[in-house]
Amino acid sequence: MATSILNKKSLTFLEKYLNNAAPTGYEWDGQKIWMDYLKPYADEFITDTYGTAVAVINPKATYKVVIEGHADEISWYVNYISDTGLLYVIRNGGSDHQIAPSKIVNIHTKKGIVKGVFGWPAIHTRNKSKEEAPKPDNIFIDIGAKDKKEVEKMGVHVGCVITYPDAFFILNKDKFVCRALDNRMGGFMIAEVARLLKENKKTLPFGLYITNSVQEEIGLRGAQMIAERIKPNVAIVTDVTHDTTTPMINMKTQGDAQIGKGPVIAYAPAVQQKLRDL
Ligand SMILES: [Zn+2]
Repeated sequence: MATSILNKKSLTFLEKYLNNAAPTGYEWDGQKIWMDYLKPYADEFITDTYGTAVAVINPKATYKVVIEGHADEISWYVNYISDTGLLYVIRNGGSDHQIAPSKIVNIHTKKGIVKGVFGWPAIHTRNKSKEEAPKPDNIFIDIGAKDKKEVEKMGVHVGCVITYPDAFFILNKDKFVCRALDNRMGGFMIAEVARLLKENKKTLPFGLYITNSVQEEIGLRGAQMIAERIKPNVAIVTDVTHDTTTPMINMKTQGDAQIGKGPVIAYAPAVQQKLRDL
């Protein structure tokens, strides 16, 4: 493994930042962790009404460069509570109904976190000749309540947001595992740029706007809003991609990308070619 530019402080920050839940539309606690880490490295901060946070280096410069990641993570909303006290959900971002059954969840309420489990009928009770697949309209969460009234007493109502509690760990020394690596890793990388600039005493001939956008998972809303505010000359945007050598992925349509082989840089008309070539 190559020598790492990461240090203990940055990894401690990454773990804390990953383990905090920041579902789309509810990113403020994560943004506070992110801004706290960046405080020694930024000249000033900008935040907007919806919670996008920007650490600025050289705020007086006229040429503005954005480096960006998104702060939010996919989640679910409570959409319907049955009389028997089960919760039916809709997506907040691209949450996957196929992997939901048997996952533990955190339901965010004004009284704090209420634990739940995505249920699924036991194998013995299912009709083997026509197994039903998990779908958005048949997956449900059990919070141990006997009826709807008890659900409400526990502080859970339609519109409560639901996240997974999965926490950060490392597989085989250097493979990071967590929910919301999409795109906490982006937020982490751009934060590390600020740290490394400061520690290496680099001065920049432009203004650098290190931008942690909210609400990406529902259609890039936070980035759209903050772009109007900053009006950057260029933006370098980070997000995750897939290791397409993993099973059941068609490389002819998904391309050839593999973990450990370095970053993937997109081609597209919107990707400024001269900037890309740098
Ligand atoms: Zn993403």
